[in-house]
Amino acid sequence: MPFTVPEGVTEIRVKESYSDQGKNVLNLGIYGPEGYKPGGTTGFRGWSGGAKTEFFLNAAEASTGYIPGKIKAGTWNILIYPSTITAEGISWQLDVVLIKGVEKAPFKISPAPEVVNNKPGWYRGDLHMHTYHSDGKRTQQELLQEAKANGLDFIVSTEHNTNSANLSWGLFNTNRLLVINGEEITTTAFGHWNAIGLNPETLIDWRYTPEDNVIATYINQVKAADGLAIINHPFYNDERVNNFGFDVNLFDGIEVWNGHAKWNQLDELAVKWWDSLLRQGIRKIAVAASDSHTPNSSDNPVGSPQTVVQAHALSRKEIMAGLRVGKAYLAQGNNIALTLTAKSGAATAGIGETLAASQGEEVQVLLALKGTPDAFIATLVGDEGVLATEKATGGNLKFSWRVASGSTKYLRVEVRTLQGDMVALTNPIWLL
Ligand SMILES: [Zn+2]
Ligand SMILES: [Zn+2]
Repeated sequence: MPFTVPEGVTEIRVKESYSDQGKNVLNLGIYGPEGYKPGGTTGFRGWSGGAKTEFFLNAAEASTGYIPGKIKAGTWNILIYPSTITAEGISWQLDVVLIKGVEKAPFKISPAPEVVNNKPGWYRGDLHMHTYHSDGKRTQQELLQEAKANGLDFIVSTEHNTNSANLSWGLFNTNRLLVINGEEITTTAFGHWNAIGLNPETLIDWRYTPEDNVIATYINQVKAADGLAIINHPFYNDERVNNFGFDVNLFDGIEVWNGHAKWNQLDELAVKWWDSLLRQGIRKIAVAASDSHTPNSSDNPVGSPQTVVQAHALSRKEIMAGLRVGKAYLAQGNNIALTLTAKSGAATAGIGETLAASQGEEVQVLLALKGTPDAFIATLVGDEGVLATEKATGGNLKFSWRVASGSTKYLRVEVRTLQGDMVALTNPIWLL
């Protein structure tokens, strides 16, 4: 919906109204005079989807989800996208107010520091969450406090279709928590995916369908920033079907465990799907993330579940490097810790590494666990299914298994409660 901004305007205010807001969703965003062509992001000035029906922007400030900056004269466009509309249709109205005044000192971007420390270790992170910058119900500072209180070392900021939060993490007290920039690319009908490890000013466009055949261009933008493209909650609605409409081969990983502390059927389906890809030789990193939208007191806190990454340092570069090769396990919370090692002769490999097993020799697999429930089941899984299962008894938190070399291309572990809920899940150790 185009409108003209004359010279001298210093603030734009937009208000959207539409019928039956409980049932209909008319998503909202805005582009400046640089234009709104697909893939062009220089004109992008914000997106709030269905989370807001009004916003403002000026040189110094903007509503969350929107990008502050100079209000240039020219043709601006409000982006309206009807994602959920009842059969009766919708009546809608946009009110735009243009304000002339004294221009405020311009907003300067203030991204989060990219390095917290240079120590190697296993770092606990949550790869998916929301604040008021999209449809979350918390401020950035509240999110940082929750993440720290819940024992995390890093978070990835992933708002729906906007990078507005990434421009301002540096304004808050991160308290030695690493904040990595990301975006949840949300194309409602075809699935959601996370671009993680981005530069703060990078915005990945979401305005295309699988039929447009352009997603490779956008995934290449993520790769150019040394980022990763992760398929989110592939089974996300009640139909219990995989709704992800884009070419899976282009993606680096799958969020096999999404939000809601309690393990559920959709997570189960996602793990099965991931496992079926591994068996076909299609390697994807498995990740777990809270997708938390609401503050700590809710049943969906930040860090539950989480992805624990082995990295040379707590920095954007090294966390992304560890994750890229699958040096990561997934855990229900920060109390769970594990190590998984495979040995053959003098060779040893950990999660995400490759073991060169000597011909004819057995591979010894060692699992050590901390923080598990009193009773649980640990399962060793290979490319033809379950290789070993052990029910934990008492304090037995160390397991040792032997596998014939050449019998499987990978080894991974699942730890579940006796009811079958996931407690921890590893990425594979690969066998040569
Ligand atoms: Zn999503
Ligand atoms: Zn999300």
